Amino acid sequence: MLAKMIFNLGQRLRNPSIASWLSFLEESDRWSIEQLEGHQLQQLRELLDFAYSSTAFYKEQFDAHAIEPSDIKTLEDISKLPTITRKDLVRFNDAIHADAKFKKTFRAATSGSTGDALVFRRDERADSFNRAAIFRGYSWFGIQPWERNGYFWGFDFNFKKKIRTKVLDALQNRFRIFNYEEKAFKQFAKKLEKASYIHGYSSAVYHTAKLINEKGLGKGIQLKMVKGTSEKIYESYQDEVKKAFGVKMISEYGATESGIVAFECPEGNMHINMEGVLVEEVEGEIIITNLQMKSFPLIRYKLGDHVTLASKDKECPCGRAHHIIEEITGRVGLDVYGIEKIYPSFTFYYIFKNLGNHHQLKLTYQVVQPAKGKLDFYVEETLSEREQMLVDQEIEKYFGNDMQTTLTHDHTSSQQKKKKKSFISYI
Ligand SMILES: [Zn+2]
Repeated sequence: MLAKMIFNLGQRLRNPSIASWLSFLEESDRWSIEQLEGHQLQQLRELLDFAYSSTAFYKEQFDAHAIEPSDIKTLEDISKLPTITRKDLVRFNDAIHADAKFKKTFRAATSGSTGDALVFRRDERADSFNRAAIFRGYSWFGIQPWERNGYFWGFDFNFKKKIRTKVLDALQNRFRIFNYEEKAFKQFAKKLEKASYIHGYSSAVYHTAKLINEKGLGKGIQLKMVKGTSEKIYESYQDEVKKAFGVKMISEYGATESGIVAFECPEGNMHINMEGVLVEEVEGEIIITNLQMKSFPLIRYKLGDHVTLASKDKECPCGRAHHIIEEITGRVGLDVYGIEKIYPSFTFYYIFKNLGNHHQLKLTYQVVQPAKGKLDFYVEETLSEREQMLVDQEIEKYFGNDMQTTLTHDHTSSQQKKKKKSFISYI
């Protein structure tokens, strides 16, 4: 159990409060919805008091709206507060940071989809809570955090970064793929035979699965969990992933600034991490309040995704009472321009969902808008004449004559170091 010792030592140094969070989350995993919401309300009120007294930004915001923290008496009352966006986090960065003293904070940075970098300090308790919440998700699949795992993330590092990465990986019993060249890839596949789980960019996990199947390297591989993050998990990924790794890809949903928002359970439902975040759906858009982070409070933050929450009575066979996110349909604010009309980017989500549901056509797609009234559809799979017609028909249903479109199938996307996006607009 050397791996466990090394892991625990590393965690204790970096995240001293993680053990207490883990035992808390193990207990609250079985709470009723009343207990969960009761806890949320208590956390929320604490957060609002703190943000009001310790940050210049929220003091000003609440005052401007003539609201005091004590006006928030129920979870629903939160809608009285204004929402904030990523732009606010960048622009009012100093004023949002709490002036309270924290024993330990970590520097967190994220470039986001728009490219404007956001940097903030995350206090150790919030950081440890977030890690513990992820580890709780792992426990649903019978995984202990120190078990051997493969990691799919960026692979062009300078030498110094590479050494640091290797040390951090060793502490977490983690290995990663650095490139897809024949020899390195075979070694990586060999290592997977001894791993319990893999995680990372969904598209990288999928392409690895495909390559493993092509080369017939999957015989000795049986994982407990395959977790995709950061990118859309296409239905079309699942057959290859199951064939290569023995299980389907599950999803972890969240962002650097929000913390983990939801984790998919073995029954395939995305349970909201209710102990850590308060989630609202307003006009189809997700709004997050991070209930744990004090160093940089996030209250009613527009994360930028279109979502549908499941009805609150939806029960999951896994027995957890935590609410469920039904679907994440795309990014907010990415409009698609027709010749005359404007369409939301989640239109693509529905086009391809219909093709999967009605025609068993599960496709890995990317849509590019080079100019107004023009769309180029790229599909990785090879399509028959009939299937191409079905795709064209489905596209036409949504855009009619308002769009000139092309469809390219059998399209291999180039090896990416960047996040794969399902929609790219050059307008
Ligand atoms: Zn469940």
